[in-house]
Amino acid sequence: MSDGESTLITGIGELVTNDGAPDDGKPGAFAAMNDAALVIAEGKVAWTGPAARAPAADMVVDAAGRAVLPGFADSHAHLVFAGERSEEFAARMAGRPYRAGGILVTVEATRAASDAALRANLLRLVTEMLRQGTTTFECKSGYGLTVPDEARGLKLAAEVTPEVTYLGAHVVPPEFAADPAGYVDLVCGPMLDACAPAARWVDVFCEDGAFGADEAAAILAAGRAAGLAARVHANQLGPGPGVRVAAEAGAASADHCTFLTDDDVDALVSAPVVATLLPGAEFGTRQPFPDARRLIDAGATVALATDCNPGSSFTSSMPFCIALAVREMRMTTEEAVWSATAGGARALRRTDIGHLGPGARADLILLDAPSHAYLAYRPGVPQVAAVWQAGRLVAGTTVSNAA
Ligand SMILES: [Zn+2]
Repeated sequence: MSDGESTLITGIGELVTNDGAPDDGKPGAFAAMNDAALVIAEGKVAWTGPAARAPAADMVVDAAGRAVLPGFADSHAHLVFAGERSEEFAARMAGRPYRAGGILVTVEATRAASDAALRANLLRLVTEMLRQGTTTFECKSGYGLTVPDEARGLKLAAEVTPEVTYLGAHVVPPEFAADPAGYVDLVCGPMLDACAPAARWVDVFCEDGAFGADEAAAILAAGRAAGLAARVHANQLGPGPGVRVAAEAGAASADHCTFLTDDDVDALVSAPVVATLLPGAEFGTRQPFPDARRLIDAGATVALATDCNPGSSFTSSMPFCIALAVREMRMTTEEAVWSATAGGARALRRTDIGHLGPGARADLILLDAPSHAYLAYRPGVPQVAAVWQAGRLVAGTTVSNAA
């Protein structure tokens, strides 16, 4: 399809648009219509409505009763790394507890890798994500932890996504073990200067064994002064100050949110900060899952993301996270799909994605199933038949005919 051509997708059994208006009047709630059609033109959604009233277009795709939904927005992923940690995973499943220190194994491998090796691994993961319906993804640094290695990680990330996150504050590297304050100075100074031009976001792992509240606040403030918006790894391994730090910094998102006090929940709702839940990490570390129901019932905005990384959550699959969210976190199928699409868009402060109303970027998934519920109903089964990104078919196949 060339840019000038329009495509009509018709015969859609269920079209998830996320263009509903909930009770609180905020637009963008979960919404879906049956027997629908959608027109793509110039990379955007040009029209949606009943199939019986669909306008003409240059090309026609027959969805044959299958579901169409917005492409997934994976707002939390660590994709620039070398090596793997399957032995650590197997040992953990055999009973050894997870420790944040495992990150350093990947840091060592990443520092030693060539640009070409890092890029090849990154592209493999990006292709994997696209095939599973992820049309927007965030990508963090954080496995370099030197000025040149962090800058290199962000440069590679910027080759594949605009949602690039500087995570120099992932963990204190071994060479600064005796001088963690010196490492924070580096992260806020020369490393930030080298990294900010390639990044949109700054992130910090605020946790026992990583960075404390004051350090995290200083790092986010330095990032903001350099033009980067904040996001925080918060309250993953135990109760702590991460959510409070995120709210005070005006962060877009607090990620993990596994161990929350009532004050934390209030802070997420009132700031507001999107609560990004990463059930792949709880799956991969055999930890309790976050309490999604408590957050949603309190009025928090919840996003779902993969946390794709070689240590705690080596999955790139948003459908897997949706299935976990429904089965283990008591989200409804509608809530889980919304959180994996519109929720991720909010966590990235994007209004052009996560929904399929007219004017939205034409990022969409054709499922090999009649409804969105199948993503959790048939866990582990490949059900993404085709994927469009900005109106272009980028994965899967469809039968399309000239009109
Ligand atoms: Zn993470």
